[in-house]
Amino acid sequence: MQRIEHIYINGEFVTPHGQEWFDLHNPSTEEVIGQVRLGDAHDAQRAIAAAQAAFPAWSRTTREERVAALRRMHRAVAARKDALMEAILMEYGAPSVRGHWMATYPADVIAQAIDALESFVFEEKTGAATVIQTPVGVAGLITPWNSNAGFICNKLATALAAGCTAVIKPSEMSAMQTQIVAEALHEADLPPGVFNIVNGRGDVVGEEIARNPGIAKISFTGSSAVGQHLVTTGAATMKRVTLELGGKSPTLVLDDADFTAVMPLVLQAGFMNSGQACIAGTRILVPRSRLAEFEQVAKEAVSHIRSGDPRQADTDIGPMVSKKQWERVQNYIRIGQEEGATLLAGGEGRPEGLHAGWFVKPTLFTRANNQMRIAREEIFGPVLTIIPYEDEADAIAIANDTRYGLSALVLGTDPERCARVARQIDAGRVLVNTLVNEPRAPFGGFKHSGLGREMGRWGMSAYLEPKTLLVSAG
Ligand code: NAD
Repeated sequence: MQRIEHIYINGEFVTPHGQEWFDLHNPSTEEVIGQVRLGDAHDAQRAIAAAQAAFPAWSRTTREERVAALRRMHRAVAARKDALMEAILMEYGAPSVRGHWMATYPADVIAQAIDALESFVFEEKTGAATVIQTPVGVAGLITPWNSNAGFICNKLATALAAGCTAVIKPSEMSAMQTQIVAEALHEADLPPGVFNIVNGRGDVVGEEIARNPGIAKISFTGSSAVGQHLVTTGAATMKRVTLELGGKSPTLVLDDADFTAVMPLVLQAGFMNSGQACIAGTRILVPRSRLAEFEQVAKEAVSHIRSGDPRQADTDIGPMVSKKQWERVQNYIRIGQEEGATLLAGGEGRPEGLHAGWFVKPTLFTRANNQMRIAREEIFGPVLTIIPYEDEADAIAIANDTRYGLSALVLGTDPERCARVARQIDAGRVLVNTLVNEPRAPFGGFKHSGLGREMGRWGMSAYLEPKTLLVSAG
């Protein structure tokens, strides 16, 4: 049983003022596998003070100095890939293919921030003025449990690249990953106070970050409800806010699609990260004229999807992260049936043969409509909803009839038609016949899916204020 007692402030691992111990579970077995001591508002204040003290010097470092620091971070995080993989398996339950990606992504994303920093234009002329991109100050970085190490590294590397210092409030449920990242960052030997990490509850440590005038900017990934709360609370001290929130992303299957050929993409998009992915394609829009054919292909394909022990190589879907999350998903499976949608695969309860662990059957609803709760609300589990549409215009209207707008997938055989449809979808990212990622492109959402963008030069700009300098010629 691992006990994580320290938080990281001003270049040191320190004992928090907070007294509460929080249990960490293995979601595959439900066993308690560790405990983390949580910081409190006092700890958050100390961390913010340390980041404020470090800001003047860090904000004046050169691009080359920051690149060198990020390279050290990259090396130290990359060296801990195996430890991260084990922590991700233990405390999150990601199946091995996903887990491998999640264990390498933290280092990859630091490399991407280095890339963005190397080509970033910090100063440019416009007319008679010089515009200087200036770091905003101390950034408060708040992460969720569904890719904690990756989100810490992405937000921190970008903030530091821009010249900001940071206080990180990681997900309290992912303390093992946080500990590994903290040890790596300590080894990277950055100046004290440049980054600080305070484990703690959202409504305690997160709340202090949202309220404290020493924080200039918040970058948050998590639920839309908490995101909205951060905007409201942060307004009192005029914080800059970047939010990456939830989604109910459409997978739009056009009527010329080859269903057998596209089905692996449909299911991968929906079940990625065991369904606990903000970008998951959870609404599958299918032409009504070919609905029965689609259902047949989908049912057959889902019968080969394995939900179970994440350590087994052929597992596609691991457990839900917590009991609460498992119950939430079960509740939505009941709601879908009560609403009158047809259960095509899966359903309530654990997959056959599993008696412990927060496992969910891969579940497909069909013959749903877009007004049902299972079509409107983010479930965050392996539960997908097939919604029939009449024609292309109807499909686009359904795709856009949502409070969210994070991602979308368009599948069809005519590339021009796919591109035409893709351009009409209101989402931060629209993919056509692919699930590839382009880390140089901005990532974020329309509507309730977020505010602002991360990644590439767009992500860097979110930590900077343009300052216009005009000097008398005379
Ligand atoms: P959550 O909003 O409950 O928690 C996220 C973080 O916010 C945690 O660290 C939590 O402790 C903290 N928090 C909670 N209350 C707070 C408060 N009052 N003030 C400040 N911080 C507070 O979300 P979660 O359950 O950890 O993650 C799942 C959600 O995250 C889903 O809605 C998902 O769609 C979203 N998400 C979005 C993206 C994206 O990039 N758009 C990526 C992953 C997850």
